[in-house]
Amino acid sequence: MIDKITIAIDGFSSTGKSTIAKALAKQLGYIYVDTGAMYRAVTLFAMNYGLVSSHNFDWKALENRLSSITLTFKFNPDLGFAEMFLNGDNVEKEIRTLEVSQLVSKVSAISSVRRKLVLVQQEMGKYKGIVMDGRDIGTVVFPDAEIKLFMTASADTRAQRRYKELIAKGDVVSYEEILQNVVERDHLDSTRKDSPLIKADDAIEIDNSDLGLKEQFDKIYALIKKK
Ligand code: C5P
Repeated sequence: MIDKITIAIDGFSSTGKSTIAKALAKQLGYIYVDTGAMYRAVTLFAMNYGLVSSHNFDWKALENRLSSITLTFKFNPDLGFAEMFLNGDNVEKEIRTLEVSQLVSKVSAISSVRRKLVLVQQEMGKYKGIVMDGRDIGTVVFPDAEIKLFMTASADTRAQRRYKELIAKGDVVSYEEILQNVVERDHLDSTRKDSPLIKADDAIEIDNSDLGLKEQFDKIYALIKKK
């Protein structure tokens, strides 16, 4: 039997991390974990309790309520991936809005939030056989991961992708606000004190601005087979 490994995928917003991670997990029979969904769910919780908005952030109150947040993933066989549940409610749709995207980087900069989520993530990956994507997977969550990828693409390519996704879902958004959000999140995520988004020394960088999904998949799958 081939030993299972850990695959850590980090990178900037909307670089297609989750698309490639899902495809790899499916091919390998591994678990896929979208850690961005977890930070988004905590942000939704904070929004629902009026703890965060565009002009205020009561991070101390959020910190005090962290123990009342339970996050779980439940596999949806029709979709082929696990959906995010916040305190028992399926929040998969609500966490993908532009409003959540505009607030999540403030929430994810809080160390106590990160500590809570990193512990859950490490628990999920303790038997390996996992593909996890996020911002600090190869640097903090699984520094010993056998495969580390760092995905990049131009801000314009990424904003176009996200814009098309949201429009397809029926959201009313403009390309300009999406581009601004992508650039802002990159900045906040890369400059925060705790676990900033950086490429791990041993990560392989993949710029997919001009790569289709199949090309990317084949390139990465070849790397995995070598391992
Ligand atoms: O991956 P996604 O774009 O859904 O992530 C949303 C946000 O969650 C990121 O912009 C970042 O602020 C935060 N995040 C993080 N660490 C992770 C995953 C996501 O800080 N491992």
